[in-house]
Amino acid sequence: MAKIQVLDKYIANKISAGEVVEKPASVVKELVENSLDAGATSIVVDIENGGINKIVVADNGKGIENQDVKTAFLPHATSKIKTVDDLFNIGTLGFRGEALASISAVSEIEMTTKTEEAVLGTHITIEGGDIVSFDEKASNTGTKIVVNNLFFNTPARKKFLRKPKQEEGDITHLMQKFILANPDIKFKYITDGKLIYNTMGSGCYDNIYTIYGREVANNLIEINFSNHKYTLTGYIGKPIIAKPNRTYQTLFVNNRIVTNFMISSAIGNAFESFLMKGKFPFYVLNLTIPNDAIDVNVHPTKQEIKFDNTGEIYSFFLNAVSDALFNLNYVSTIESEDDEAEDEIIESAVDQEIDAKEEDRPPISTPLDFDKYKTNSTSLSPFGGRSFDRKSTDLIFNSSTILDEIKITTPPQSNQSPNIMKEEEEQVDFAKEVQNFKTIGTLFATYILLEAEDKLYIIDQHACHERKNYDRFVEEFENANIPTQPLMIPYVFTCNVNEFSFFVDNLETFKALGFEIDEFGHNTLKISEIPYFLNDINLESLIDDIRKDLGVFNKTQLDFLKDSLAKKACKASVKAGDILTPSEIKSLLADLSKHKVLLCPHGRPIVVEITKSQIEKWFKRKL
Ligand code: ADP
Ligand code: MG
Repeated sequence: MAKIQVLDKYIANKISAGEVVEKPASVVKELVENSLDAGATSIVVDIENGGINKIVVADNGKGIENQDVKTAFLPHATSKIKTVDDLFNIGTLGFRGEALASISAVSEIEMTTKTEEAVLGTHITIEGGDIVSFDEKASNTGTKIVVNNLFFNTPARKKFLRKPKQEEGDITHLMQKFILANPDIKFKYITDGKLIYNTMGSGCYDNIYTIYGREVANNLIEINFSNHKYTLTGYIGKPIIAKPNRTYQTLFVNNRIVTNFMISSAIGNAFESFLMKGKFPFYVLNLTIPNDAIDVNVHPTKQEIKFDNTGEIYSFFLNAVSDALFNLNYVSTIESEDDEAEDEIIESAVDQEIDAKEEDRPPISTPLDFDKYKTNSTSLSPFGGRSFDRKSTDLIFNSSTILDEIKITTPPQSNQSPNIMKEEEEQVDFAKEVQNFKTIGTLFATYILLEAEDKLYIIDQHACHERKNYDRFVEEFENANIPTQPLMIPYVFTCNVNEFSFFVDNLETFKALGFEIDEFGHNTLKISEIPYFLNDINLESLIDDIRKDLGVFNKTQLDFLKDSLAKKACKASVKAGDILTPSEIKSLLADLSKHKVLLCPHGRPIVVEITKSQIEKWFKRKL
């Protein structure tokens, strides 16, 4: 018998299934992508036991004609591309024609589908790749697919599934991305009979609120940036809500979920001077780019894409995000009690809504009946229809620290909008005006109090100095023009072998940053010149800090040093607790007016604002 044989259809399908269908989340991904490609505006995903027992995906898309239904389950059967050229201009999420074939090879699948024109729908059941039944069935326009017993005939694969809760977690994460990527589409997501998401297709902001909650939603910056070729839309989080890892970063290219290291580092670099080390920006961004400028056919699960012009994309993202960060008004405001009360009321209404929905939720047995899934009243997000801009200038500050003692129980007003608009119109350009404000004095030897028309500004003098020194240093560094000063007595220090070689390897870098360092014997170094403006810096603690960071740094060395030195700038700054003379305050405020960014280099706010009307509310002069 010949040793090399062409595999029969069953084995071949099971093998290729491995590429597309590695776990329940991949089934959900392929099916939802099909629904999106079919132009659905409403999609229901209902899973049981982490998708291992059952996955239902139902849509109101264009459906499949009766004569095409069997073909759709054949390997490499697709309606989305016809020629090789089409491969280089892909406008749909799917294109390989593998998903239905692969999924049906490793599960018991059932599909009901109807096109708008057809009188009756088509119903097909397939087990492990064999058609078990094929008939007509009354149904609505759209497609409903039920995948039962995933991997029932591939025990080896089934064994590698993780715990149902973990598989469910992957699906939930995926659903979050689908929801964020498709802000105009209604999604309903149910796990083990529990309604998890029910979005109204009411836009990206509402969806971010639904998924990440109020704190994130209150601290977003809207991005709408384009040039002749590319458009970037979505939201980035203010530095104050930066996250400890990258899982809060969502990127879409033409609404396709992708991961791209180059783009995430462009965004990271734009955020650089706003964030502490080890913090990552939050974002949900969608890049719109001509389909022929990208290649999506480079990864089996289509998660990665290739750009024709990487450099251009890098600068595009860097500019878009930097622009947004630098144009932000960084004056923080105290969240008003009314706002909170109002939000809480809406939240509890939403909770009730969810509870109610869970109870009346119909079992998903009748196919394609979208009316059953319709929510008639409130959107899950309380912000439907309300302008997002209201909060766009707030770095929300926890008012409880200040207001603990004076707990106010003002009844929430039914409609806050006119009030809010008024406050917005009155917003003063802080940086421009700051020098004209009246100085009231200094509080706790730390905060400068300023009065302006109907506002009280509280300035953290330490954060303000930090920003000043950091900006100055970065500017001088970038102009490769750091005035230096020789030390009267050179600073000599001894370190271990690793530290020594780090310094020796980077002598040039240090020099560019204004530090003249030379070898001075065995594991010993000498600093003979430092940047002029750091004249009162404590060199011992500077060197100590650099040594401490050596073990953890993974950035490029220049970035690492810049960051380190920015921290030193803080140390060299005036400390909270130093009492400033009126002329020192004046000069600090004069500097402040020059800063575009009212955050210290670690992302803490420099200025907080309290309005007169807020104060009046504390004293119940005003409701
Ligand atoms: P691909 O999406 O790569 O074309 P699939 O195996 O996922 O391949 O689907 C095969 C074909 O079945 C699709 O090209 C499409 O014509 C049809 N199809 C699959 N799912 C749906 C759906 N939910 N609505 C309408 N048509 C669908
Ligand atoms: Mg597909």
